[in-house]
Amino acid sequence: MKIRTMLGDITKIQCDAIVNAANTSLLGGGGVDGAIHRAAGPKLLEECRTLNGCQTGQAKITKGYRLPAAYVIHTPGPIWRGGENGEEELLADSYQNCLKLAEAHGCRTVAFPSISTGVYRFPLERAARIAVGTIRAFASRASSVDEVILVAFDPQTKGCYDRALEEARS
Ligand code: ADP
Repeated sequence: MKIRTMLGDITKIQCDAIVNAANTSLLGGGGVDGAIHRAAGPKLLEECRTLNGCQTGQAKITKGYRLPAAYVIHTPGPIWRGGENGEEELLADSYQNCLKLAEAHGCRTVAFPSISTGVYRFPLERAARIAVGTIRAFASRASSVDEVILVAFDPQTKGCYDRALEEARS
């Protein structure tokens, strides 16, 4: 599996599934969640209403509607509360459960935003290491997923991903 990083807007990416850093209601929010709902159109919210929310670290899948991506995989990452409340494990769960769902739907290419590092305030460098570590662990076994794109919305996040990838490969 190939892992690459890019700077850009995840709503513009043509791939099988994009991940949404959602909240547990799955009924939309700010940040990347708001951007995904705006780009997908109102049918996304309609489908999300049927899902009865989602627990932190779990994931649920919908269609992509007007997005270039076929699917959206919604995962509420953990809210950072100092690091003693299982935040790291929950963030790893989010990445892993998204990849499992992608695989269950035969997705080959999956794009992730930087889950939890916006409004949820998870420290960026730690989050980048967890993202890379979890994706690499998943990649070590056979899967339909053959490319993961880590989409950074700002250069600082891109830098953290690139360093975490370099660290993991060295
Ligand atoms: P969370 O609540 O999980 O912290 P946020 O949406 O607040 O989620 O932030 C997660 C990350 O998504 C942040 O790095 C933010 O800059 C980034 N982001 C916001 N909009 C987009 C977008 N359109 N494409 C990709 N990343 C985005």
